[in-house]
Amino acid sequence: MDMILQAGNLEKTYKRGAEVVYALRGINLEINYGELVAVLGPSGSGKTTLLQIMGCLDRPSGGELIIDGSAVETLSGSALESLRRDRIGFIFQQFQLVSSLNVQENVLLPLLFSRRKPDYAYLDNVLQTVGMEHRRKHLPDQLSGGEMQRVAVARALINRPGLILADEPTGNLDSENSSRIFELLKKLNQQGVTIVFVTHNHELADMAGKRIMIRDGSIEAVHAG
Ligand code: ADP
Ligand code: MG
Repeated sequence: MDMILQAGNLEKTYKRGAEVVYALRGINLEINYGELVAVLGPSGSGKTTLLQIMGCLDRPSGGELIIDGSAVETLSGSALESLRRDRIGFIFQQFQLVSSLNVQENVLLPLLFSRRKPDYAYLDNVLQTVGMEHRRKHLPDQLSGGEMQRVAVARALINRPGLILADEPTGNLDSENSSRIFELLKKLNQQGVTIVFVTHNHELADMAGKRIMIRDGSIEAVHAG
């Protein structure tokens, strides 16, 4: 099986008061194992909604989504939750670290939810990968934005996911830190992790193997290579 994710006619509507918002209007896409995919599109076009649905943080209103061979709509809540926890790592624009927990505790947090014992050798490994092993006892407010995002990358890795979804991961970073985070994502991708990232940065997007352009809840174009 070479597809990690397949979406067929994926739809998402939100209710805003009496109004229905069509956030996704029939998305068809296929992502192969090991791909590095960029998602581009104007603000409000549905990029975050798409990532949240691909990551099982939210359910689609219609259509089909298959992840690692499982049809998401057939999964119970708890099966969906374990798929999300065990197979998918998230990185957000706002880092979303817990301010009262230090670097190491933040990185280990997903294990707490999956009730797994920390593998401290692997923790050292991911902290080294992101270059934060020397800061493991620091609190988030003692870190720069770039460092916070590197911690968030480590946290996304701790469950050894096959798929990482990153929603504007460099949106709050200067160009030097953006490059560093992007290099990190590229390195993970070279190690076999499938990565889908949303960006407004065309230079970063051009380094992806596939670029998906979204407009008004639909895929406008897919560029490969
Ligand atoms: P993007 O990430 O591309 O900026 P979003 O996926 O956040 O786009 O939003 C797509 C559309 O869905 C927008 O019109 C947005 O206002 C709407 N939307 C997103 N989340 C919600 C929500 N929870 N409730 C109502 N409307 C929403
Ligand atoms: Mg967004």
